Amino acid sequence: MRLDKSKEVFDKTKRYIPGGVNSPIRAFKNLSITPPVISKGKGCRIFDIDGNEYIDFVLSWGAMILGHCDPDVVNSIKEVVEDQIAFGAPTEIEYEMAKLVCETAQIDMVRFVNSGTEATMTAVRLAKGYTGKKKIVKFAGCYHGHHDIFLKEAGSAVAELRLKGIDEDIVQNTIVVEYNNLDSVEKAFKENKDEIAAVIIEPVAGNMGVVPAKKEFLQALREICNLLGSLLIFDEVITGFRLSLKGARALYDVEPDLITFGKIIGGGLPCGAVGGKKEIMQCLAPQGNVFQAGTMSGNPIVMSAGYTTVKKLKENPDIYTYLESLAQKLEGYLAKVFSNSNLTFCINRVGSMLTVFFGVEKVENFEMARMSNLDQFKKFAEYMITNGIYIPSSQFEAMFLSSAHMESDIERFAEVAESFAKFVKKP
Ligand code: PMP
Repeated sequence: MRLDKSKEVFDKTKRYIPGGVNSPIRAFKNLSITPPVISKGKGCRIFDIDGNEYIDFVLSWGAMILGHCDPDVVNSIKEVVEDQIAFGAPTEIEYEMAKLVCETAQIDMVRFVNSGTEATMTAVRLAKGYTGKKKIVKFAGCYHGHHDIFLKEAGSAVAELRLKGIDEDIVQNTIVVEYNNLDSVEKAFKENKDEIAAVIIEPVAGNMGVVPAKKEFLQALREICNLLGSLLIFDEVITGFRLSLKGARALYDVEPDLITFGKIIGGGLPCGAVGGKKEIMQCLAPQGNVFQAGTMSGNPIVMSAGYTTVKKLKENPDIYTYLESLAQKLEGYLAKVFSNSNLTFCINRVGSMLTVFFGVEKVENFEMARMSNLDQFKKFAEYMITNGIYIPSSQFEAMFLSSAHMESDIERFAEVAESFAKFVKKP
């Protein structure tokens, strides 16, 4: 595969943008290939400026659940953009979107913001304002955006960095515990009695690779929070509208106090949201005294793309059945391919989110994810991408499927994975 033009543009960009990207993961820092510079996306395919075509399993990090440039989403943007770009004033589409999201995800109230980071920041401030407590509990390997309070032992692109510029005074109030380990949560509560405003968790982690929480674990978190007066926040920026219309919480039968959304909720445009119980949500300004604001929040173009996406999912819940069966097939194919090779591996999958780990047989937390063979994953990612299967460049991310993927796309994935398995030898 030739990436000459991509390399040229990427190198030129580095002159003006640090690292050539506006979000670190895009730079392929782990890999020895240049990131393809993308010029077009249609359905489950993306195209780069060198003329290469890829089947996309990144999907804007999970946002494009209907595939790229879904005609209904494109039309809804076109319709609104003629008359409405931004006002910083109320618009009717905000009402439509809020009603749709609340009814679909079954929450009382919602506030729209511009990103997942803003959503989680707002949720935590709300929890602190509501409870009058100042500490939060987060889990190693979970990523909740790039605010200081969340970066301690975070997954995603943070996992392989030594961080600078973090305000230690603020971070002191973040307590990091182990995912799926109740003892470590109980210890944190014991050591910080009456000080914990909230426990924030990805109910299915996507930022240490896919790692599902155990049902009893989430249920126990709910009980501890109830007992000790802390809020439970589910960060469903990835899982919201991906695992079901009600997100991951439908799979676990656990109701958090607050939920954060991002990615899918904006239909591919910059959007996030925090939602949950009325009693807590109404503490947000101007109704209450927990301040949060945004010049562009609830932007009509974003609301319109998000509305069309969520409405399409709501009206076609079969999409989730389809995604499950497709993802199940992909998991089965990959398990077969790697079982027939001499590679040790483990596949974690929940719905249409999936990760392959090499060199380990089980991954249940960040520590275990980090013990996987990162070098093998790097080779896998390079091989797949250069053979037209666009997957995340890092082990600490998830692969995704969209409703635009077909069985033949999954078969192609398996074929390329098979040739990779033949290509590598057990390290
Ligand atoms: N929470 C989770 C679970 C995420 O995966 C991400 C981003 N990948 C965020 C929060 C932050 O979202 P954003 O990048 O839109 O700020």
